Parts: sequence; structure tokens; C-alpha cells
Amino acid sequence: MTPILYIVIPCYNEEAVLPITAPLFLKKLQDLIAAGKISDDSRVLFVNDGSRDETWNIICSLARQDAHFIGISQSRNRGHQNAVLAGLMEAKDRCDITISIDCDGQDDLNAMDEMVERYLEGYEVVYGVRSSRETDTFFKRFTAQSFYKLLSAMGAEVVYNHADYRLMSARVLKEFANFHEVNLFLRGLVPLVGFRSTTVTYSRAERLAGESHYPLKKMLALAIDGITSLSVKPLRLITGFGAFVAVVSFIACIWALITALCGRAVPGWASTTCIVCFVSGVQLLGLGIIGEYIGKIYLETKERPRYIISERTENMLDQSK
Ligand code: UDP
Ligand code: MG
Repeated sequence: MTPILYIVIPCYNEEAVLPITAPLFLKKLQDLIAAGKISDDSRVLFVNDGSRDETWNIICSLARQDAHFIGISQSRNRGHQNAVLAGLMEAKDRCDITISIDCDGQDDLNAMDEMVERYLEGYEVVYGVRSSRETDTFFKRFTAQSFYKLLSAMGAEVVYNHADYRLMSARVLKEFANFHEVNLFLRGLVPLVGFRSTTVTYSRAERLAGESHYPLKKMLALAIDGITSLSVKPLRLITGFGAFVAVVSFIACIWALITALCGRAVPGWASTTCIVCFVSGVQLLGLGIIGEYIGKIYLETKERPRYIISERTENMLDQSK
């Protein structure tokens, strides 16, 4: 029996790009169906992430035009990661495989053929990995590469140059549903689920329309979230650095004592000020990092829902597998 594929696509204020990319997704789905690789029950599942523009209306009208298009809508904007999660959790009981992809046409749809092939060979997770970043601006390329380097240096294992374009089997998703954290960083969590995995490389194009929702500020937030939800290495680094500063201070004290005893003590205002400033800076940084983790614990203990689906397209009712 051919597997049922759900292509999960988060959309936030994408009225400019959705009418261009939706037919491309449908075409890819139909090609895969025609090739006999996936079942005709496969679907393109849009997740409207609380858009303030016409996105949800576009999704509804697509669903009326073709039964292969379906959509869910989040009750408000919750961010890319939560939107992808909502789609994957919605899909997991209705299909055998999911592929998550952005809706802006930046990720090469043709990589899906290879992804499905890998699945048919027995892989449960297939990561889409970018082969080049030539189309990105220098700034985007530089920040994105620093992002991966920082993550791996801080002990958060992620697949290099893999964003959220990946195939996951329903079996993996059912296990993944047991990961209850609200601080979501999917590309760091999926490797923790395990199962047989492989990668597929593709080249990334420019956004077909609209603007990126990931300015530097959001990228930094994602990096900090990724590190603090996957690793405690920063806390250890603070401890190590604290110990280092303590040793240096101890040596400095001995040195100061000796110079004082030898009667060569100088007024030394500048050096004292420098040390005070430096040490208080280090303390504040340390507190900030610890605070970041306490904030995470605070949010986790509340166990708030990670997504709330407020609406579904009409053709989604009675489709449970
Ligand atoms: N997105 C979302 N919610 C948000 C921000 C973005 O669902 O709050 C979606 C967006 O519609 C797109 C994907 O996440 O499909 C990636 O966003 P974008 O293309 O802006 O990021 P970039 O590719 O520039 O990193
Ligand atoms: Mg994009």
C-alpha cells in the first residue's frame, strides 16, 4: 500500500506568496501520486499562524477548489515553531509521512521526491540540508552560519544547515508527541527522538514574494532558545569562568599584599575601578544566563498548551484515518 503524505506548511501573513506557491505544492503532490509513490489521500496542510491579512481566506478558498488542500488556523500568532508543531500533531493520526516546509518557495520542492524515496528505503527521518547559501544576502549567510556554530559550540546538537524542511514518519511523530516542552526548538528536538535518519541536499532559492519574518532579533532569540532548551553548557561555562576569575583575584591579592608589605603600594584608583567594573559585569552576565534558564523552568511549569486550533477548513471534518 502506498503511504499517505501530508505536506505541512506554516503561513504567517503570506497573502503575497501563497497564491504563487500553493499550486506548486499541489503539483508536486500530484506528481508524487501519479508516480505511484504516495496515496491519493495525501494532502497539503496549511497552518495559518494567526495571520492578520488575507492568508486564512486564501487557504479556505484553496480548500474549496481542490480536496487535496486542507488547512487549520491557530487562535493567534504563536510563532513558526509552534505552527509547525500544530500541523505535525494534526497530521500524525491521519497520515504515514509528513514533510514540513516553509510556504515562501525558498526550499526546493524537488527534494521531496528523494525524501519520499529515502522513506520507502526504510528511513524514518529525512533532513533537508541546504547545499549553498548563494542566494542569501551576505548578512543572512553570516548570521545563519554563526548561529549553527554557536549552537554546536554550546552543546546543542543540530544538523548543519538544516532548517525545518524535513520528512518525519507518523511513527516518529507519535513518539515526538511525548516531548512536552513548551520551549520549542524542533530541529534540536527531532534528533533526540532517534530512529533511522538521513539527509537530502538541495539548493535554497530566494523568497518568491513577501518578506522574511526572521530579522536578526528573532534569529538571536531562536539561537538563545535553542541553546538554553537543549544544553546546560552555558551554566558550566559561567562556573568555569567564575573559578578562573577567583584564582586570578587570589593571585592579585597576594601580589597586592606583597607590594604593600614592601612599602611600594601606589594609590591605584584606576586598577581598582577596572577590577570592580569587570567583576560586576561578569556577575551580571552570569545572573542573566541563569535567569534565562529560570525563565525557561517558569514557562515549563505552567504547562500551557503549545498551540490552539480555532478553525479548520470544511473539507477537514471526518478525515481521520
Ligand atoms: N512563520 C509562521 N509564524 C511566524 C513567522 C513565520 O508561521 O510567526 C512562517 C512563515 O509564513 C514561513 C516560515 O514560517 O512559511 C518561515 O518564515 P520566513 O520565510 O519569514 O523565514 P526565513 O526563511 O527568512 O528564515
Ligand atoms: Mg523563508
